[in-house]
Order: sequence, then structure tokens, then C-alpha cells
Amino acid sequence: MNREAANISEPNLLKNQIAGTRAQNPDAREEPSAQSAEPNIKMSTKGLKVFYGDKQALFDIALDMEEKSVTALIGPSGCGKSTFLRCLNRMNDTIDGCAIDGNVTIDGQDIYDSVLDVVELRARIGMVFQKPNPFPKSIYDNVAYGPRIHGLAHNQKDLNSIVRGSLERAGLLKEVEDRLDEPGTGLSGGQQQRLCIARAIAVSPEVILMDEPCSALDPIATAHIEELIDELRTNFTIVIVTHNMQQAARVSQKTAFFHLGKLVETNTTEEIFTSPRDERTQGYITGRYG
Ligand code: ADP
Ligand code: MG
Repeated sequence: MNREAANISEPNLLKNQIAGTRAQNPDAREEPSAQSAEPNIKMSTKGLKVFYGDKQALFDIALDMEEKSVTALIGPSGCGKSTFLRCLNRMNDTIDGCAIDGNVTIDGQDIYDSVLDVVELRARIGMVFQKPNPFPKSIYDNVAYGPRIHGLAHNQKDLNSIVRGSLERAGLLKEVEDRLDEPGTGLSGGQQQRLCIARAIAVSPEVILMDEPCSALDPIATAHIEELIDELRTNFTIVIVTHNMQQAARVSQKTAFFHLGKLVETNTTEEIFTSPRDERTQGYITGRYG
């Protein structure tokens, strides 16, 4: 069976899940009401097109990503989710034959503008990948890596506090504080992914991009990461690719559905899963195609 089809459930299940989450969580943050101020747009794309050689992978994508909120990108394999995510921190620059046209902004500033330093940009926009990829270094050095490169710590005490603080925010400190010198690669898969999240947040990014961060993890480790994502959105803008629709429903406030390189529909997560407007979205969330 197709990997994506395996995670599809009936829309009613999702509906109940969304309603259930809200009911069990009376304190859960409410979405901004109609009267409240417009949410701040942290990142935005307009007319974004991507080509790999002659093949066009993305067609005129216009998407706003709100500050301190989770935007989920969903859609069948090969529809361009990872390509889109990589445009947001210029990771596609490193792919031969990849050409990008259109506009990508952070706080209104074009990230493809030549005055912007790519290394600095990637410190502002961190990334967590599908497969946990700790460096072959100690747990401590994995997290200290970015702050060292960017000169964020004035002395050893400063660095220690960044490392411990990042591990704490990634929900990993308690599990590793007595073995910070041990290799990061010795941790379990879920711990490794939290280590990668700690490494990403150690440089105090504004945005965190996550490309299917749980797809290599077991359900318990996945639940842990999902809780963490919900906490992280207090401080960070998060854009997450997921092929798991329950996950999109659980962790995101806004969902964008991609199909064949086009952004078909975007709306609040609740609207997308309970009353999608486009029949392709409807087809995907009800499992008619993967
Ligand atoms: P998704 O993440 O939704 O599965 P991708 O962004 O990986 O989709 O891929 C979108 C399209 O771009 C696919 O047709 C894929 O084959 C193509 N593609 C992705 N990466 C490359 C690459 N490095 N070189 C050439 N084509 C690519
Ligand atoms: Mg992908």
C-alpha cells in the first residue's frame, strides 16, 4: 500500500479529533476572533515557481505563513511540498539545475535579495529533516555547533546556558543531562529528532521548517514531537510538511493542500478538514487518492 494512503482516516474521525482536542483542552489557545487584529504574516510567497531543469515543480504559489503559528503543508507524494519548504530558506540554491522565480519574504523582506546573507538567513530560518541527522559529535557539541559558528556565546558559561536551555525547550534535557559528552547518534530515534530540534533552536531562529519530522519515528516518539511543536509555536513560526493528516489536524492552525505542483487550497486547519472547498482537497482527505 502507498505510504500516504496508510495514514488516511475518514473525515468524520478527523472532525471528531479536532472537536475532541478542543473539548479536552478548554485552555487551548483560541484562534484570533473576527474582531482581533489581523495576524502578523511572518513569511509569504507570491508567484513562486520552481523548475528542475525543464520540469516545473511549483506553479505560482502564493501562501502566507502567520507568526507564532503552525502552517501544515499536505498533499500526495511528489506534489512539491519539500520543494516549497526548501524555497523558504534557500536550500534549493544548493540543488544543481534548480531555478526559482517569484517572491519569498520574511518580515516583508525578499530572502532572494542579494543584500541578504544566506548563512544569516539560515540562522533565522532553521530546518529539521525527515530522518534525524545528528552530527557525529557529542550531544553537547551538536547543540553548541550553531551558537559557536554564529558567535552567540561570550564565554563557556554562556554557551552552557544556551545548550541546556535549548535541550530543555526541546524536552530532552532531563533525559540527557548526565551524559552530554556522549555521542548524539547513540540516542533513540525520537531523542535524536529532539536533539535536532534543540540544535535548530539553539541559534534562536524565528522560523522552523520541518519536513515530515516524525515519519521515521514510532507513535510514542511522534506524540512527544507533536506536543513539542505545539509548545514551540509560542515562540516560533513553524511550517511543517506531513503526509499524516491526523498530524496536520493535531498540530497546525493553518493547512495548505498541494497537488501536482499547485497550491489548491489553504484555510484554517479546521475548515480544510471539515469543509474543504475544492474537490481535490476533499478527495485527498477522504483517501480517494494518495
Ligand atoms: P513532495 O515533497 O511533495 O513529495 P518534492 O518537492 O520532493 O515533492 O518533489 C516535487 C517534484 O519535483 C517531483 O516531481 C520530484 O520528482 C521533483 N524533484 C524534487 N527534487 C528534485 C531534484 N533534486 N531534482 C529533480 N527533480 C526533483
Ligand atoms: Mg517531500
